[in-house]
Amino acid sequence: METRSEVQQPAEVGLEWDTPLYRTAVAQYEEALRHADVSVAVARRLAVPERAVMVSVPVCLDDGEWTIFPAYRVQHSSVLGPTKGGIRYDRHVTLGECAALAMWMTWKCALLRLPYGGAKGGVRCTPRELSQAELQKITRRFTSELMPFIGPQEDIPAPDMATNEQTMAWMMDTYSMQKGYAVPEIVTGKPISVGGSVFRAEATGAGVVMVIERACGRLGWSLPSLRFVVQGFGNVGGIAARELADRGASVVGVSDYSGGVHDPAGLDLAALRSWITEQGSLAGYPDATNVTNPELLELDCDVLVLAALEEQLTAENAPRIRARLVAEGANGPTTVAGDEICAERGITILPDVLTNAGGVTVSYFEWVQDLGRLFWGRDEIRSRLAEKLGDAFDRVWELSDQTDVSLRSAALVAGIREVAAALDARGIYP
Ligand code: GLU
Repeated sequence: METRSEVQQPAEVGLEWDTPLYRTAVAQYEEALRHADVSVAVARRLAVPERAVMVSVPVCLDDGEWTIFPAYRVQHSSVLGPTKGGIRYDRHVTLGECAALAMWMTWKCALLRLPYGGAKGGVRCTPRELSQAELQKITRRFTSELMPFIGPQEDIPAPDMATNEQTMAWMMDTYSMQKGYAVPEIVTGKPISVGGSVFRAEATGAGVVMVIERACGRLGWSLPSLRFVVQGFGNVGGIAARELADRGASVVGVSDYSGGVHDPAGLDLAALRSWITEQGSLAGYPDATNVTNPELLELDCDVLVLAALEEQLTAENAPRIRARLVAEGANGPTTVAGDEICAERGITILPDVLTNAGGVTVSYFEWVQDLGRLFWGRDEIRSRLAEKLGDAFDRVWELSDQTDVSLRSAALVAGIREVAAALDARGIYP
Protein backbone atom coordinates (compact mmCIF):
# COMPACT_ATOMS: atom_id res chain seq x y z
CA MET A 1 0.00 0.00 0.00
CA GLU A 2 1.15 3.53 -0.74
CA THR A 3 2.07 5.59 2.28
CA ARG A 4 0.87 9.16 2.60
CA SER A 5 4.25 10.67 1.66
CA GLU A 6 4.29 8.65 -1.57
CA VAL A 7 0.98 10.07 -2.75
CA GLN A 8 1.98 12.74 -5.21
CA GLN A 9 0.31 16.11 -5.46
CA PRO A 10 -1.48 16.87 -8.75
CA ALA A 11 1.21 19.25 -10.04
CA GLU A 12 3.79 16.47 -9.87
CA VAL A 13 1.63 13.81 -11.48
CA GLY A 14 1.25 15.55 -14.86
CA LEU A 15 -2.45 15.15 -15.43
CA GLU A 16 -4.09 14.82 -18.84
CA TRP A 17 -5.06 18.51 -18.95
CA ASP A 18 -1.51 19.67 -18.24
CA THR A 19 -0.92 21.83 -21.35
CA PRO A 20 0.69 25.29 -21.83
CA LEU A 21 -2.61 27.15 -21.42
CA TYR A 22 -3.50 25.17 -18.30
CA ARG A 23 -0.05 25.94 -16.91
CA THR A 24 -0.71 29.65 -17.55
CA ALA A 25 -4.00 29.41 -15.61
CA VAL A 26 -2.26 27.57 -12.75
CA ALA A 27 0.69 30.03 -12.71
CA GLN A 28 -1.75 32.94 -12.43
CA TYR A 29 -3.67 31.06 -9.72
CA GLU A 30 -0.49 30.36 -7.74
CA GLU A 31 0.60 33.99 -7.99
CA ALA A 32 -2.81 35.14 -6.73
CA LEU A 33 -2.76 32.55 -3.90
CA ARG A 34 0.19 34.42 -2.34
CA HIS A 35 -2.25 37.23 -1.55
CA ALA A 36 -5.51 35.30 -1.11
CA ASP A 37 -4.91 33.83 2.35
CA VAL A 38 -6.60 30.46 1.82
CA SER A 39 -5.87 27.11 3.49
CA VAL A 40 -3.62 24.52 1.83
CA ALA A 41 -6.56 22.12 1.45
CA VAL A 42 -8.69 24.70 -0.35
CA ALA A 43 -5.75 25.82 -2.50
CA ARG A 44 -5.03 22.24 -3.60
CA ARG A 45 -8.69 21.45 -4.24
CA LEU A 46 -9.20 24.45 -6.51
CA ALA A 47 -6.00 23.83 -8.49
CA VAL A 48 -7.68 21.05 -10.48
CA PRO A 49 -11.10 20.69 -12.12
CA GLU A 50 -13.76 18.63 -10.36
CA ARG A 51 -14.69 16.76 -13.51
CA ALA A 52 -13.44 16.41 -17.08
CA VAL A 53 -15.56 14.62 -19.67
CA MET A 54 -14.15 13.50 -23.01
CA VAL A 55 -16.42 12.14 -25.71
CA SER A 56 -16.21 11.39 -29.42
CA VAL A 57 -18.84 12.72 -31.78
CA PRO A 58 -19.49 10.64 -34.91
CA VAL A 59 -20.95 12.57 -37.85
CA CYS A 60 -21.69 11.61 -41.45
CA LEU A 61 -20.55 14.70 -43.39
CA ASP A 62 -22.43 16.06 -46.42
CA ASP A 63 -20.11 14.18 -48.80
CA GLY A 64 -20.95 10.86 -47.13
CA GLU A 65 -17.63 10.62 -45.21
CA TRP A 66 -17.81 9.64 -41.53
CA THR A 67 -15.71 11.76 -39.18
CA ILE A 68 -15.27 11.33 -35.46
CA PHE A 69 -14.73 14.64 -33.65
CA PRO A 70 -13.09 14.71 -30.20
CA ALA A 71 -15.09 16.82 -27.74
CA TYR A 72 -14.77 17.86 -24.11
CA ARG A 73 -16.57 19.43 -21.17
CA VAL A 74 -14.59 20.40 -18.09
CA GLN A 75 -16.33 21.47 -14.88
CA HIS A 76 -13.92 23.22 -12.57
CA SER A 77 -15.89 24.02 -9.42
CA SER A 78 -19.46 23.50 -8.24
CA VAL A 79 -18.87 25.10 -4.84
CA LEU A 80 -20.95 28.24 -5.50
CA GLY A 81 -23.63 26.71 -7.72
CA PRO A 82 -24.06 25.06 -11.12
CA THR A 83 -21.05 25.28 -13.42
CA LYS A 84 -21.27 27.76 -16.27
CA GLY A 85 -19.30 28.43 -19.40
CA GLY A 86 -19.17 28.36 -23.15
CA ILE A 87 -18.86 25.68 -25.80
CA ARG A 88 -16.30 26.41 -28.52
CA TYR A 89 -15.82 24.90 -31.96
CA ASP A 90 -12.20 25.25 -32.98
CA ARG A 91 -9.44 23.08 -34.42
CA HIS A 92 -7.21 23.72 -31.40
CA VAL A 93 -9.69 22.57 -28.72
CA THR A 94 -8.04 20.22 -26.21
CA LEU A 95 -8.80 18.93 -22.75
CA GLY A 96 -6.10 21.25 -21.34
CA GLU A 97 -7.51 24.31 -23.07
CA CYS A 98 -10.98 23.55 -21.69
CA ALA A 99 -9.53 22.97 -18.20
CA ALA A 100 -7.74 26.35 -18.22
CA LEU A 101 -10.80 28.16 -19.52
CA ALA A 102 -13.04 26.39 -16.97
CA MET A 103 -10.78 27.55 -14.13
CA TRP A 104 -10.91 31.14 -15.40
CA MET A 105 -14.72 30.88 -15.57
CA THR A 106 -14.76 29.98 -11.85
CA TRP A 107 -12.81 33.10 -10.88
CA LYS A 108 -14.85 35.24 -13.30
CA CYS A 109 -18.23 34.12 -11.93
CA ALA A 110 -17.03 34.45 -8.34
CA LEU A 111 -15.56 37.91 -8.94
CA LEU A 112 -18.90 39.05 -10.38
CA ARG A 113 -20.69 37.40 -7.44
CA LEU A 114 -22.75 35.16 -9.73
CA PRO A 115 -23.90 31.91 -8.05
CA TYR A 116 -21.92 29.71 -10.44
CA GLY A 117 -18.69 27.79 -10.79
CA GLY A 118 -16.73 27.56 -14.00
CA ALA A 119 -16.93 25.16 -16.93
CA LYS A 120 -15.87 25.12 -20.56
CA GLY A 121 -16.28 22.69 -23.41
CA GLY A 122 -15.71 22.34 -27.06
CA VAL A 123 -15.48 20.22 -30.16
CA ARG A 124 -12.20 19.94 -32.06
CA CYS A 125 -13.29 20.78 -35.59
CA THR A 126 -12.82 23.48 -38.24
CA PRO A 127 -16.20 25.22 -38.16
CA ARG A 128 -15.60 27.35 -41.27
CA GLU A 129 -15.30 24.18 -43.32
CA LEU A 130 -18.55 22.68 -42.01
CA SER A 131 -22.08 23.26 -43.34
CA GLN A 132 -24.99 24.24 -41.10
CA ALA A 133 -26.34 20.69 -41.43
CA GLU A 134 -23.01 19.23 -40.28
CA LEU A 135 -22.74 21.70 -37.39
CA GLN A 136 -26.26 20.79 -36.33
CA LYS A 137 -25.42 17.08 -36.27
CA ILE A 138 -22.25 17.72 -34.24
CA THR A 139 -24.15 19.90 -31.77
CA ARG A 140 -27.03 17.48 -31.27
CA ARG A 141 -24.84 14.43 -30.80
CA PHE A 142 -22.45 16.31 -28.48
CA THR A 143 -25.43 17.47 -26.39
CA SER A 144 -26.74 13.88 -26.20
CA GLU A 145 -23.33 12.68 -25.01
CA LEU A 146 -23.34 15.37 -22.30
CA MET A 147 -26.89 14.61 -21.06
CA PRO A 148 -25.74 12.96 -17.80
CA PHE A 149 -23.46 15.89 -16.95
CA ILE A 150 -25.39 19.05 -17.81
CA GLY A 151 -28.63 20.54 -16.47
CA PRO A 152 -30.10 23.87 -15.32
CA GLN A 153 -28.91 23.13 -11.76
CA GLU A 154 -25.74 21.29 -12.77
CA ASP A 155 -23.95 22.81 -15.74
CA ILE A 156 -25.28 25.44 -18.13
CA PRO A 157 -23.54 25.82 -21.53
CA ALA A 158 -23.36 29.07 -23.52
CA PRO A 159 -21.76 30.29 -26.76
CA ASP A 160 -18.01 30.73 -27.10
CA MET A 161 -15.65 30.78 -30.11
CA ALA A 162 -17.53 29.93 -33.35
CA THR A 163 -20.76 28.99 -31.58
CA ASN A 164 -23.80 31.24 -31.50
CA GLU A 165 -27.54 31.55 -30.85
CA GLN A 166 -28.31 28.82 -33.39
CA THR A 167 -25.92 26.40 -31.70
CA MET A 168 -27.64 27.11 -28.36
CA ALA A 169 -31.09 26.61 -29.91
CA TRP A 170 -30.00 23.14 -31.14
CA MET A 171 -28.59 22.29 -27.71
CA MET A 172 -31.75 23.48 -25.98
CA ASP A 173 -33.93 21.50 -28.38
CA THR A 174 -31.89 18.30 -28.05
CA TYR A 175 -31.96 18.50 -24.24
CA SER A 176 -35.67 19.37 -24.21
CA MET A 177 -36.62 16.51 -26.56
CA GLN A 178 -34.90 14.03 -24.25
CA LYS A 179 -36.69 15.50 -21.22
CA GLY A 180 -40.06 15.68 -22.94
CA TYR A 181 -40.71 19.37 -22.28
CA ALA A 182 -39.08 22.73 -23.09
CA VAL A 183 -36.14 23.53 -20.83
CA PRO A 184 -34.94 27.00 -21.89
CA GLU A 185 -32.79 27.37 -18.76
CA ILE A 186 -30.43 24.57 -19.89
CA VAL A 187 -28.37 27.00 -22.02
CA THR A 188 -27.86 30.75 -22.25
CA GLY A 189 -27.17 32.83 -25.34
CA LYS A 190 -30.28 31.39 -27.05
CA PRO A 191 -32.44 33.19 -29.58
CA ILE A 192 -35.02 35.42 -27.87
CA SER A 193 -37.80 33.30 -29.44
CA VAL A 194 -36.86 30.32 -27.23
CA GLY A 195 -36.24 32.17 -23.99
CA GLY A 196 -33.05 34.09 -24.75
CA SER A 197 -32.41 37.46 -23.20
CA VAL A 198 -32.31 40.79 -24.96
CA PHE A 199 -28.80 42.25 -24.91
CA ARG A 200 -27.06 38.85 -24.41
CA ALA A 201 -25.57 38.92 -27.92
CA GLU A 202 -23.94 42.33 -27.36
CA ALA A 203 -23.18 41.84 -23.67
CA THR A 204 -19.53 40.72 -23.83
CA GLY A 205 -18.42 43.46 -26.25
CA ALA A 206 -20.50 46.14 -24.51
CA GLY A 207 -19.12 44.99 -21.15
CA VAL A 208 -15.54 45.31 -22.43
CA VAL A 209 -16.23 48.97 -23.20
CA MET A 210 -17.96 49.56 -19.84
CA VAL A 211 -14.80 48.29 -18.12
CA ILE A 212 -12.52 50.41 -20.34
CA GLU A 213 -14.69 53.45 -19.57
CA ARG A 214 -14.39 52.79 -15.85
CA ALA A 215 -10.62 52.41 -16.16
CA CYS A 216 -10.39 55.70 -18.08
CA GLY A 217 -12.22 57.36 -15.18
CA ARG A 218 -9.58 56.08 -12.72
CA LEU A 219 -6.67 56.93 -15.02
CA GLY A 220 -7.99 60.42 -15.73
CA TRP A 221 -8.23 59.72 -19.47
CA SER A 222 -10.97 60.97 -21.75
CA LEU A 223 -12.24 58.01 -23.81
CA PRO A 224 -13.23 60.02 -26.93
CA SER A 225 -9.66 61.31 -27.27
CA LEU A 226 -8.15 57.81 -27.41
CA ARG A 227 -7.09 55.67 -30.38
CA PHE A 228 -8.02 51.97 -30.23
CA VAL A 229 -6.79 48.85 -31.99
CA VAL A 230 -9.16 45.88 -31.72
CA GLN A 231 -8.00 42.34 -32.49
CA GLY A 232 -11.06 40.31 -33.47
CA PHE A 233 -14.11 41.65 -35.25
CA GLY A 234 -16.67 39.07 -34.17
CA ASN A 235 -19.18 38.98 -31.38
CA VAL A 236 -16.79 40.57 -28.88
CA GLY A 237 -14.39 42.76 -30.90
CA GLY A 238 -16.97 43.86 -33.47
CA ILE A 239 -19.42 45.02 -30.81
CA ALA A 240 -16.64 46.60 -28.71
CA ALA A 241 -15.41 48.56 -31.76
CA ARG A 242 -18.94 49.79 -32.43
CA GLU A 243 -19.49 50.83 -28.80
CA LEU A 244 -16.15 52.67 -28.78
CA ALA A 245 -16.98 54.54 -31.98
CA ASP A 246 -20.44 55.38 -30.54
CA ARG A 247 -18.64 57.08 -27.65
CA GLY A 248 -16.55 59.16 -30.07
CA ALA A 249 -13.31 57.18 -29.83
CA SER A 250 -11.18 56.51 -32.89
CA VAL A 251 -10.77 52.86 -33.94
CA VAL A 252 -7.57 52.82 -36.01
CA GLY A 253 -7.08 49.07 -36.47
CA VAL A 254 -9.19 45.91 -36.47
CA SER A 255 -8.62 42.33 -37.57
CA ASP A 256 -10.31 38.98 -38.08
CA TYR A 257 -8.90 35.52 -38.83
CA SER A 258 -7.85 36.64 -42.33
CA GLY A 259 -5.72 39.60 -41.16
CA GLY A 260 -6.16 43.23 -40.23
CA VAL A 261 -6.69 46.74 -41.56
CA HIS A 262 -5.19 50.02 -40.35
CA ASP A 263 -6.02 53.67 -40.84
CA PRO A 264 -4.40 56.18 -38.44
CA ALA A 265 -7.22 58.61 -39.20
CA GLY A 266 -9.85 56.12 -37.98
CA LEU A 267 -11.65 53.28 -39.78
CA ASP A 268 -15.16 53.40 -41.22
CA LEU A 269 -16.69 50.54 -39.21
CA ALA A 270 -19.98 50.47 -41.12
CA ALA A 271 -18.05 50.06 -44.40
CA LEU A 272 -15.98 47.26 -42.85
CA ARG A 273 -19.11 45.44 -41.69
CA SER A 274 -20.68 45.65 -45.16
CA TRP A 275 -17.44 44.36 -46.71
CA ILE A 276 -17.44 41.36 -44.35
CA THR A 277 -21.10 40.64 -45.07
CA GLU A 278 -20.39 40.62 -48.81
CA GLN A 279 -16.93 39.02 -48.89
CA GLY A 280 -16.96 36.77 -45.81
CA SER A 281 -13.85 38.30 -44.20
CA LEU A 282 -11.75 41.49 -43.97
CA ALA A 283 -9.30 40.20 -46.60
CA GLY A 284 -8.89 42.56 -49.54
CA TYR A 285 -10.67 45.54 -47.92
CA PRO A 286 -9.58 48.40 -50.22
CA ASP A 287 -9.93 51.57 -48.13
CA ALA A 288 -7.23 50.99 -45.48
CA THR A 289 -3.72 49.54 -45.18
CA ASN A 290 -3.67 45.76 -44.85
CA VAL A 291 -1.66 44.39 -41.94
CA THR A 292 -1.11 40.93 -40.52
CA ASN A 293 -2.49 39.97 -37.13
CA PRO A 294 0.99 40.15 -35.48
CA GLU A 295 1.58 43.60 -37.04
CA LEU A 296 -1.81 44.79 -35.79
CA LEU A 297 -0.83 44.22 -32.16
CA GLU A 298 2.19 46.51 -32.55
CA LEU A 299 0.38 49.45 -34.15
CA ASP A 300 0.62 52.90 -32.61
CA CYS A 301 -2.46 53.38 -30.38
CA ASP A 302 -3.52 54.16 -26.81
CA VAL A 303 -5.57 51.07 -26.07
CA LEU A 304 -5.23 47.57 -27.48
CA VAL A 305 -8.34 45.39 -27.18
CA LEU A 306 -7.53 41.67 -27.49
CA ALA A 307 -10.80 40.05 -28.52
CA ALA A 308 -9.71 37.05 -30.58
CA LEU A 309 -7.63 34.15 -29.34
CA GLU A 310 -5.55 33.10 -26.36
CA GLU A 311 -1.74 33.50 -26.17
CA GLN A 312 -1.48 36.62 -28.36
CA LEU A 313 0.60 38.92 -26.15
CA THR A 314 3.79 37.01 -25.43
CA ALA A 315 7.45 37.43 -24.43
CA GLU A 316 8.17 37.80 -28.15
CA ASN A 317 5.94 40.79 -28.98
CA ALA A 318 5.30 42.42 -25.57
CA PRO A 319 8.51 44.53 -25.84
CA ARG A 320 7.13 46.15 -29.02
CA ILE A 321 3.50 46.83 -28.00
CA ARG A 322 2.82 50.56 -28.19
CA ALA A 323 -0.53 50.73 -26.36
CA ARG A 324 -0.56 52.11 -22.81
CA LEU A 325 -3.59 50.02 -21.83
CA VAL A 326 -4.54 46.48 -22.90
CA ALA A 327 -8.13 45.25 -22.48
CA GLU A 328 -8.59 41.46 -22.59
CA GLY A 329 -11.90 40.73 -24.34
CA ALA A 330 -10.73 37.17 -25.12
CA ASN A 331 -9.91 34.57 -22.47
CA GLY A 332 -6.20 34.08 -21.77
CA PRO A 333 -4.79 36.34 -24.52
CA THR A 334 -1.66 37.22 -22.49
CA THR A 335 1.00 34.71 -21.46
CA VAL A 336 2.70 34.88 -18.06
CA ALA A 337 5.91 36.23 -19.67
CA GLY A 338 3.90 38.75 -21.74
CA ASP A 339 2.27 39.93 -18.53
CA GLU A 340 5.63 40.45 -16.81
CA ILE A 341 7.06 42.47 -19.71
CA CYS A 342 3.96 44.69 -19.85
CA ALA A 343 4.23 45.29 -16.10
CA GLU A 344 7.91 46.28 -16.46
CA ARG A 345 7.02 48.62 -19.30
CA GLY A 346 4.20 50.28 -17.32
CA ILE A 347 1.45 48.96 -19.60
CA THR A 348 -1.76 48.36 -17.63
CA ILE A 349 -3.71 45.19 -18.44
CA LEU A 350 -7.45 44.99 -17.80
CA PRO A 351 -7.69 41.24 -17.14
CA ASP A 352 -10.02 38.84 -18.96
CA VAL A 353 -11.92 37.61 -15.89
CA LEU A 354 -13.12 41.16 -15.32
CA THR A 355 -13.09 42.70 -18.79
CA ASN A 356 -15.06 40.03 -20.67
CA ALA A 357 -17.39 39.16 -17.78
CA GLY A 358 -20.32 41.00 -19.39
CA GLY A 359 -21.21 37.86 -21.35
CA VAL A 360 -21.60 35.50 -18.44
CA THR A 361 -23.26 38.21 -16.35
CA VAL A 362 -26.06 38.63 -18.89
CA SER A 363 -26.11 34.83 -19.22
CA TYR A 364 -26.91 34.79 -15.51
CA PHE A 365 -29.69 37.33 -16.10
CA GLU A 366 -31.00 35.11 -18.91
CA TRP A 367 -31.02 32.00 -16.67
CA VAL A 368 -32.78 33.90 -13.86
CA GLN A 369 -35.40 35.19 -16.32
CA ASP A 370 -35.92 31.65 -17.72
CA LEU A 371 -36.33 30.15 -14.24
CA GLY A 372 -38.79 32.87 -13.28
CA ARG A 373 -40.54 32.89 -16.70
CA LEU A 374 -40.46 36.67 -16.41
CA PHE A 375 -38.52 38.80 -18.89
CA TRP A 376 -36.78 42.14 -18.46
CA GLY A 377 -36.27 44.99 -20.93
CA ARG A 378 -33.06 46.09 -22.59
CA ASP A 379 -32.52 49.20 -20.46
CA GLU A 380 -32.94 47.25 -17.25
CA ILE A 381 -30.43 44.61 -18.37
CA ARG A 382 -27.93 47.18 -19.57
CA SER A 383 -28.05 49.12 -16.33
CA ARG A 384 -27.88 45.98 -14.16
CA LEU A 385 -24.82 44.90 -16.18
CA ALA A 386 -23.13 48.29 -15.80
CA GLU A 387 -23.78 48.14 -12.06
CA LYS A 388 -22.31 44.62 -11.66
CA LEU A 389 -19.24 45.34 -13.78
CA GLY A 390 -18.69 48.70 -12.07
CA ASP A 391 -18.87 47.11 -8.64
CA ALA A 392 -16.41 44.33 -9.61
CA PHE A 393 -14.09 46.87 -11.27
CA ASP A 394 -13.98 49.06 -8.16
CA ARG A 395 -13.26 46.10 -5.88
CA VAL A 396 -10.43 44.97 -8.17
CA TRP A 397 -8.95 48.45 -8.55
CA GLU A 398 -8.97 49.05 -4.79
CA LEU A 399 -7.51 45.64 -3.96
CA SER A 400 -4.76 46.20 -6.51
CA ASP A 401 -4.02 49.58 -4.96
CA GLN A 402 -4.01 48.32 -1.38
CA THR A 403 -1.95 45.18 -1.96
CA ASP A 404 0.27 46.55 -4.73
CA VAL A 405 -0.46 43.68 -7.13
CA SER A 406 -1.50 43.77 -10.79
CA LEU A 407 -5.17 44.14 -11.70
CA ARG A 408 -5.05 40.51 -12.88
CA SER A 409 -3.83 39.21 -9.53
CA ALA A 410 -6.33 41.41 -7.71
CA ALA A 411 -9.20 40.10 -9.85
CA LEU A 412 -8.11 36.51 -9.25
CA VAL A 413 -7.61 37.10 -5.51
CA ALA A 414 -11.13 38.57 -5.28
CA GLY A 415 -12.61 35.58 -7.12
CA ILE A 416 -10.56 32.98 -5.25
CA ARG A 417 -11.55 34.46 -1.89
CA GLU A 418 -15.27 34.15 -2.71
CA VAL A 419 -14.91 30.46 -3.66
CA ALA A 420 -12.56 29.72 -0.75
CA ALA A 421 -14.96 31.25 1.78
CA ALA A 422 -17.77 29.05 0.49
CA LEU A 423 -15.59 25.94 0.41
CA ASP A 424 -14.38 26.63 3.95
CA ALA A 425 -17.97 26.97 5.14
CA ARG A 426 -19.16 23.85 3.29
CA GLY A 427 -16.03 21.77 4.00
CA ILE A 428 -14.49 19.27 1.61
CA TYR A 429 -16.75 16.19 1.27
CA PRO A 430 -16.73 13.73 3.00
N1 GLU B 1 -18.09 32.04 -23.29
C1 GLU B 1 -18.28 33.22 -22.52
C2 GLU B 1 -17.14 33.42 -21.53
O1 GLU B 1 -16.08 32.94 -21.73
C3 GLU B 1 -19.65 33.26 -21.86
C4 GLU B 1 -19.95 32.13 -20.94
C5 GLU B 1 -21.39 32.10 -20.46
O2 GLU B 1 -22.15 33.00 -20.81
O3 GLU B 1 -21.72 31.16 -19.72
O4 GLU B 1 -17.26 34.14 -20.58
